[in-house]
Amino acid sequence: MRYISTRGRAPVLDFEGVTLTGLASDGGLYLPESWPQFSADEIRAMRGLSYPELAYEIMAPFVGDSLTDQELLGLCQQAYGAFDHAAVTPLVQLDQQHWLLELFHGPTLAFKDVALQLLGLLFEKFLEKRERPLTIIGATSGDTGSAAIHAVAGREGVEIFMLHPEGRVSEIQRRQMTTVSASNVHNIAIAGSFDDAQSHVKRMFADPVLTDTLDIGAVNSINWARLMAQVVYYFAAALQLGAPDRKVAFSVPTGNFGDVFAGYVAAQMGLPVERLIVATNKNDILARAIRDGDYSVGESHATITPSMDIQVSSNFERLLFEANGRDAEGLAAQMDGFGQSKTLALDPMQREGIAEMFSAHRATPEDTLTAMRWAYENCGEVIDPHTAVGLHAACSLTMADEIDPAIPVVTLATAHPAKFPDAVEQAIGTRADLPDRVGDLFALEERFETLSADYEAVRDYISAKATR
Ligand SMILES: *Cc1c(COP(=O)(O)O)cnc(C)c1O
Repeated sequence: MRYISTRGRAPVLDFEGVTLTGLASDGGLYLPESWPQFSADEIRAMRGLSYPELAYEIMAPFVGDSLTDQELLGLCQQAYGAFDHAAVTPLVQLDQQHWLLELFHGPTLAFKDVALQLLGLLFEKFLEKRERPLTIIGATSGDTGSAAIHAVAGREGVEIFMLHPEGRVSEIQRRQMTTVSASNVHNIAIAGSFDDAQSHVKRMFADPVLTDTLDIGAVNSINWARLMAQVVYYFAAALQLGAPDRKVAFSVPTGNFGDVFAGYVAAQMGLPVERLIVATNKNDILARAIRDGDYSVGESHATITPSMDIQVSSNFERLLFEANGRDAEGLAAQMDGFGQSKTLALDPMQREGIAEMFSAHRATPEDTLTAMRWAYENCGEVIDPHTAVGLHAACSLTMADEIDPAIPVVTLATAHPAKFPDAVEQAIGTRADLPDRVGDLFALEERFETLSADYEAVRDYISAKATR
């Protein structure tokens, strides 16, 4: 499989190249040159496969010659064998029409593990042949940092430096990062904000003091391999609910648009998807884009769903590219304009194409708490606030008769409720226990370096510590 950039001016890469690269060199995002297709018969034949076997079937066409069949299947078994549920992403029924797809059975209790556990193994595999290790540098305000650290911990040929703003991530999130004892994991608390940390990281990617002697990599959500791994659970859920002989709709708590774009990919590959519901909180740039064609940066709001507090959704560029008929030149011009003015008007073709598959819905904090209460009182399910934003959107559409009652609606449960205990307590009056598998986070020793927010101090620390 060959991969091309949405902006058309970056080198064409194979799967290995695209896995080890983040952003394309022209500022665009990589996509496969064409979508692999599965017929209804082929999809029917996937019923009853284990999750690792299904992951292998779905991903093999994307991986192409970069791995042998045995290697890919082996990595899937290793990545998903470590999840604490035999089904990996179990489905839970809420009522006649609504279901939850639990994506939080990995080591850090958020859906990001599903993709990152595999990505860590892919890195190790592809880096075997290289002499220099890959140095991953990232900044986190919470979830991504811990999932990335757990993906890379103990892997050969790769190490990770993760910056977080001192005192501004929750205690559980900090401990999920700082109690990892592997020697290739380096946590840095900086005395500054998340924006300081992120702008330092951006600067380091272009700083010759580091780039002259290190191979620097990223694990952010624009990485194609992460998206690809997320396509699998759309198939897994739909197959259990009767696909390909019955359509299924999905409601997805959305931030950077990675997770819901994977649903779009599943549909392009032949999975009968009735609708994809983009659920947002008050940071609603996507809801405005999908409903009104207005993709413009708004004010940023802090909410009880911090993993969806975004200003810009990086992966939305991939959908804009698909919806303009893959016109890279037109898209590059649109994105250049967006870079300058922070606003972008979707053209009529993009609006129509997107409306065929996507709906968008925004939840207020009250909507979010109400959905958590409904799930608890009516279905006995304790859900996290991000999942609740998705469930609110799902129920809003079904109650408005916008989805046929015969079509199951699956809400993606993106985090374990124990990760956001305060919001859960506010909604239902009790806290969810941390599952045993995370161990006693509060008894383990923490390991991190505290540095000033000064750029040179952080860079020089990394330069001195990094393995060459
Ligand atoms: C990252 C995250 C999201 C948003 O996912 P995107 O792929 O960025 O849209 C939603 N919920 C939780 C709990 C997350 O960690």
